[in-house]
Amino acid sequence: MRVLIVEDEEKLARNVASVLKEVASSAVDLSHDGEDGLHMALTNSYDLIILDLMLPKVDGLTLLARLRTRKIQTPVLVLTARDAGSEVIRGLNLGCDDYVTKPFDMGELVARCKALIRRCHGQASSLIRVGPLAINTLSRQVEFGGQSFLLPAMEYRLLEYLAMRSGEVISKTEILDHLYDFHAERFSNVIEVYISALRRRFDPAPPYKLIHTLKGHGYMLGERAA
Ligand code: CA
Repeated sequence: MRVLIVEDEEKLARNVASVLKEVASSAVDLSHDGEDGLHMALTNSYDLIILDLMLPKVDGLTLLARLRTRKIQTPVLVLTARDAGSEVIRGLNLGCDDYVTKPFDMGELVARCKALIRRCHGQASSLIRVGPLAINTLSRQVEFGGQSFLLPAMEYRLLEYLAMRSGEVISKTEILDHLYDFHAERFSNVIEVYISALRRRFDPAPPYKLIHTLKGHGYMLGERAA
């Protein structure tokens, strides 16, 4: 998953970013003003945008309105001051999906972020099942064949992304866009390496396969005969 944080309090933004990377295994981009934030949101692929309302250059509500006008439906979680009830209502009317009042509890923020991302992909529960595979998105434990696994960070990030969108064919470019932040170097062959690693771990009994490669199109997670 890849998250954009638009927040001018740089220390707060960095704290949220490091917690999301650590606890939610997310790729995170930071932006410290509304103009840059809008540009980032329009030019990259995010699974969630965390948006402060009081921002330099372009305020949060204007940014949100411009995104929705451009038909960008990425879920948006708004950060707002405690006494800003009318702003929250305006935000909700403009298409924000949830909000948290400052000062907020980091655990609550992360839980809300994860819930929004899940809902956006049609996953009601934090436990995602795909055939014999069960992925606990809270503990990041993966159950398979009666065993429990804690995967290396990037393998988990890839598996979770494929699982959120199980049954869909996802191109390599799209995977790269959603797994890496703006500053990361992207090598498309790295996805093949992670896919092979996941296949070695989670290989159900023939004739069933879990991870499918559709030549020239991408990858798909789902249990079906090979
Ligand atoms: Ca602010």
